[in-house]
Amino acid sequence: MIPVNSVLQVGSFPEVMQAEINRSLKTVQLINPHEPAPAGSYEAILTRSNTPIPESLLRQIPNLKVIACCGVGYDNLPLDYLKAHRIQASTTPGVLNDAVCELGIGLLFALLRRLPAADLFARSGEWQAQAFPITTTLAGKTVGIVGLGRIGQDLAKRLEAFGVTIAYTGPSAKQSSYAFYKSAVALAEVADVLILTCPGGPETERMIDANVLNALGPKGYLVNIARGSVIDESALISALQQNRIAGAALDVFENEPQLNSAFIPLHNVVLSPHIGSATRETRQAMTRLAIDNLEAFFNHRPLLTPIH
Ligand code: NAP
Repeated sequence: MIPVNSVLQVGSFPEVMQAEINRSLKTVQLINPHEPAPAGSYEAILTRSNTPIPESLLRQIPNLKVIACCGVGYDNLPLDYLKAHRIQASTTPGVLNDAVCELGIGLLFALLRRLPAADLFARSGEWQAQAFPITTTLAGKTVGIVGLGRIGQDLAKRLEAFGVTIAYTGPSAKQSSYAFYKSAVALAEVADVLILTCPGGPETERMIDANVLNALGPKGYLVNIARGSVIDESALISALQQNRIAGAALDVFENEPQLNSAFIPLHNVVLSPHIGSATRETRQAMTRLAIDNLEAFFNHRPLLTPIH
């Protein structure tokens, strides 16, 4: 049983998530994490991975013992502060893999087959004047996965069915039949498509830079379903403007929800507004798992899916 008003809910939650929360617990809400915490004696925070949690907020909550975060990235949590104050934290790994993989594959085909442009072409009547330009097929290509973790592995399994060769990079080689490359540059040299599924944060910041993009080359495609911070966005924009890569499909951005306006006129980019996990089923499952973590905490059990 979670005590009433012992959980501070931080950030805005879509209706489907809020309904799931309201079924199980009564929280106090703080939409803007930079505003003062409402008075109360909170032991827990419930938030989403897209909400930056500033240390200044946590300092106002001396009884805080746990943060349950809906989402799998924890680059928006002040990890050093949590460690120093022995505050536990959980995320919602696994339950969003299906939705994120589906979006990754959707973006990949949208990019290779130019589906947004084809849709416009059919709607506008341009089809009556000429045929849509010929595009390229995925089968036979090499797909390089940057970060063969939970999402990366599930994505690789699904992609195998399309007749591609999978290769990957990461901090170390995994027990896997896929070819391992020590760096993103080395992977980009052999890949026709690079898909990013690694975490955000300082260790991967701007890892996909001009060198990686040049290695990917003018026939190479980039798909980012990880975090905007992983790409050097200005290097990507110049590579796209100068056709030094064939194209990019991006679900995540450096300054979301602000979009760099240089993306807008580009025809070799497909954009989506960070919707990797944004399906009803997935958002409900993420919320449920976050609440289950809170229930475990308030019942003096270990968190189900802690961040170590
Ligand atoms: P995960 O299981 O932790 O997998 C991350 C993988 O990235 C791990 O295999 C890790 O290697 C690898 N990695 C770590 N540092 C790396 C580096 N410098 N270069 C290359 N690979 C590196 O996490 P997940 O559940 O698959 O989620 C992955 C990421 O997807 C999340 O962190 C989040 O940012 C993103 N995501 C995006 C959306 C969206 O809406 N677009 C939704 C959910 C998640 P080790 O195994 O060796 O540690």
